[in-house]
Amino acid sequence: MAEEKECQEGMPSHENIIFSCSGGLSNTGITSALACLEVVKELGLEKAAIGCLPSLPLGVKPVIGKTRVARKVITVDGCPFECSRKTVEAAGFSITKSIVLARDIGMKKVAFHRDIGKGEGVAAYVSEEEGKSAKELIEKAIFED
Ligand code: SF4
Repeated sequence: MAEEKECQEGMPSHENIIFSCSGGLSNTGITSALACLEVVKELGLEKAAIGCLPSLPLGVKPVIGKTRVARKVITVDGCPFECSRKTVEAAGFSITKSIVLARDIGMKKVAFHRDIGKGEGVAAYVSEEEGKSAKELIEKAIFED
């Protein structure tokens, strides 16, 4: 069984932590998750990490600790249900910045589960331009005062 050591203030950790929804086969959720990955890829893990969202209500200590010591806690959601923001807040954390792609970049949610098996890959539902806009918003949230 994995050891659950809680990260304490002063211990090395990621400067900022991002929690993202990932969608139930929707373009909005998948774009949220992919944009967060792009941010971490570009900025590096010292600057930002992605926290596992379901770990918070389950009380997974390493993630709770990393969230506690993070300079900023940023949530990224695809649609107005804001699963990520609500989950993080329900776990008792204050959010520095909430990003909702439907609200902040005008994404229209497309549920593509209806099309599964018809030959289109996931990439067909994810717009490069929307992904780029989402990534820029997340980076702005990290760097703004
Ligand atoms: S916020 Fe919207 S897109 Fe994201 S997981 Fe929740 S319902 Fe799906």
